[in-house]
Amino acid sequence: MPIRILPSQLIYQIASGEVIDRPYSIVKELLENAIDAQASSIWMMLHNGGESYISVKDNGTGMCLEDIELAVKHHTTSKLTADNLENIQTLGFRGEALPSISFVSRMSITSKCKEDEWGWFVQFEDQSIASFKPSICTTGTHVEVRDLFYKTPNRLKFLKTPEWEFQGILNTFKRLTMAYPSIAFNLNNDKKTIINFLAASFEDRIADVLGEAFKDNSLMIEERRGYIRLKGFISLPSFTQSTANFQYLFVNGRPINNKLLSSAIRVAYEGLLFRNRYPMLALFLDIPGEYVDINIHPKKYEVRFKEAEFVKETIKNILKETLTKTRFAVSTSFGE
Ligand code: ADP
Ligand code: MG
Repeated sequence: MPIRILPSQLIYQIASGEVIDRPYSIVKELLENAIDAQASSIWMMLHNGGESYISVKDNGTGMCLEDIELAVKHHTTSKLTADNLENIQTLGFRGEALPSISFVSRMSITSKCKEDEWGWFVQFEDQSIASFKPSICTTGTHVEVRDLFYKTPNRLKFLKTPEWEFQGILNTFKRLTMAYPSIAFNLNNDKKTIINFLAASFEDRIADVLGEAFKDNSLMIEERRGYIRLKGFISLPSFTQSTANFQYLFVNGRPINNKLLSSAIRVAYEGLLFRNRYPMLALFLDIPGEYVDINIHPKKYEVRFKEAEFVKETIKNILKETLTKTRFAVSTSFGE
């Protein structure tokens, strides 16, 4: 078969599919944008578990009209320059989320920047402006997404029940709220308030999300070893779960999945747990940009550590020491 250059519509379709495959991926991207825009409050509203309507509103920096138009073009971002790819400080940087969302749905953005007296309501069709009008609103951004996957019936068919999709959204939402306790978050589904978190301390937000019982049965970690900073809560060996699904990992404020860290956790708890029981934990790792690569996958759930063995050993040691110290403390207090 001869090699052909793909038409741009097909390129966009493939690229969008990598970023947006289910309602939760839209939620992730929109929340990340609101956090990057330095919002102190974020409101999310869903209909039908996100299948018919997703809206994310923030009180962050907002955008002026020219920026709203640019934001929906491919590879446009205010977050990346030629010299900061190695040291990204924001959750976004690929400039792909808004164009991808706009490609797979009917999207509108209402936004006002601080400098302007009024904002703009802009409706998009195929990544270009279909209509726009002035809007009286406060500084910040409101993105609304309707008719998800209306152009790609195949993808639409893969959506599961609204309850199932909603669980994915809830999980994504909760994970981000843990990493940003100083932001207030509100989540409403089918006119019911599901989450209403006020700005809180790190400890209180963890208890809000993972429950008081977890906080009361866990050990707090706050350590620095070399260039690694680790903070979080790990459950006592007596407070376990039947799956490893309650292990929340973050690198530089970004929720991630990582086999290396999971294995460090497993080794640290070795010999302390009954068979098929797993600890529950929320661990936040801070590592300078030059030691971690987040540009592995469009969804940004993967990271690669430059010194993987060092990271694994360090995390394992910190966890092990924390657990041993407690065992010692518990046994001496029993002995008294
Ligand atoms: P990225 O986040 O990777 O830059 P996006 O497609 O998600 O790419 O967004 C494109 C640009 O639109 C951002 O770089 C930012 O300048 C702007 N933007 C998107 N969402 C918001 C928001 N909620 N508030 C302010 N600006 C936003
Ligand atoms: Mg983004």
